Amino acid sequence: ESPPINADFYGVETKLNPEDRALQLKVRAFLEAEIKPLVNNYWLHDEFPFEIIPKLAELNICGYTYEGYGCAGGTSLMDGIIAAEFGRIDPSIATFLGVQSGLAMGSIYLCGSEEQKAEWLPRMQQMQVIGAFGLTEPEIGSGAAGGLTTTCKKTEQGWVLNGQKKWIGNSTFSDITIIWARDLDDGEVKGFIVKKENPGFEVEKIKGKMALRIVQNGLITMKDCVVPESDRLALANSFKDTAKVLQMTRAGVAWMAVGCARGAYENALAYTLERKQFGKPIASFQLIQNHLVEMLSNLTAMQTLVFRLSEMQDADELRDEHASLAKVFCSLRTRDIVSKAREVMGGNGILLEYNVARFLADAEAIYSYEGTKEINSLIVGRSITGISAFV
Ligand code: FAD
Repeated sequence: ESPPINADFYGVETKLNPEDRALQLKVRAFLEAEIKPLVNNYWLHDEFPFEIIPKLAELNICGYTYEGYGCAGGTSLMDGIIAAEFGRIDPSIATFLGVQSGLAMGSIYLCGSEEQKAEWLPRMQQMQVIGAFGLTEPEIGSGAAGGLTTTCKKTEQGWVLNGQKKWIGNSTFSDITIIWARDLDDGEVKGFIVKKENPGFEVEKIKGKMALRIVQNGLITMKDCVVPESDRLALANSFKDTAKVLQMTRAGVAWMAVGCARGAYENALAYTLERKQFGKPIASFQLIQNHLVEMLSNLTAMQTLVFRLSEMQDADELRDEHASLAKVFCSLRTRDIVSKAREVMGGNGILLEYNVARFLADAEAIYSYEGTKEINSLIVGRSITGISAFV
């Protein structure tokens, strides 16, 4: 008889208070019952399961950390725990929620006026309004801070937006998209809430992805897209304000990576206990145990790191370099864990139905989005040396 699988080896979750632990287990049970059975098929067909949106809304976890507007006003720690639970079952659905709750709602929460928050956040919290976040462009990814080519210009009709945005998650169906654009007059980056029906705003689905296939990413083209002043994010006056949103969401991506790694580890460990070769479970072989221990070591290091990360966030001590270090470390270690998980499963490791191949592919996108390994490393490097190596 094998011991039960315990992927929380150092018991970090025992630090949660009983209410938080109950919420974690509720989210986990929901994901296992409602999401896990769907995801391989939707992933295979590159489609989004719209039927889950009302059920996700009922969990009441969207915009979990924000105060007011129907949001729970919870801790960053619990927000992270929830992101990891989603990542453990499916990184695509975790990303859908991360875009809605973190990037889109977070932009309005951190950079919007009181009127803008009151107009959008309650309906976004209920997931009646779905949001997207458009920063990256076809020619500008890592260099977004100084290099955005999408422009905005104030005219008598309102703000006129021109340019393209690439990779924008949820944008093929989102009701609103936050668009970041450079002001032709003062050169600063400003943010806009753009409605999907806005004339001059077109979205084309990006096809052929080999990771996070359930997330619907779009290529947005804006041609003389006119947005009223009332839909310009009132407190977004430069890229520094955009970066505030990214600091928060990068911490969330680190947690999501922990979930992705945990899902792959748990499935791989269970497989090695079942699968027999040479007349014995493959888990009995020393070389397989070594792989499992390496996976668990990395997972445990990640879990303890993100717990401390969230403590700092909740104490208002988190700086950009802290979020970046967590994002780099966790997405790098996750890539290693999912690859070993696949390895110990032999050929079945590349079949979707064995529930590791999806994590293996999805880890590649987690590794690159919300700042690549190099860019987040350079943010940490700048902090520890005092020298910026970006240009
Ligand atoms: P590039 O910037 O072209 O980088 C290519 C390589 O060069 C990378 O390895 C990079 O690290 C390296 N590099 C670049 N500059 C330097 C440097 N100075 N020093 C060393 N190395 C460097 N964006 C959004 O705005 N909204 C979204 O919702 C969104 N969702 C996404 C979903 C997915 C699945 C993916 C894959 C991407 C998404 N993105 C989104 C975009 C994502 O943030 C970018 O892909 C990412 O920032 C990297 O930009 P890039 O792909 O243009 O790569």
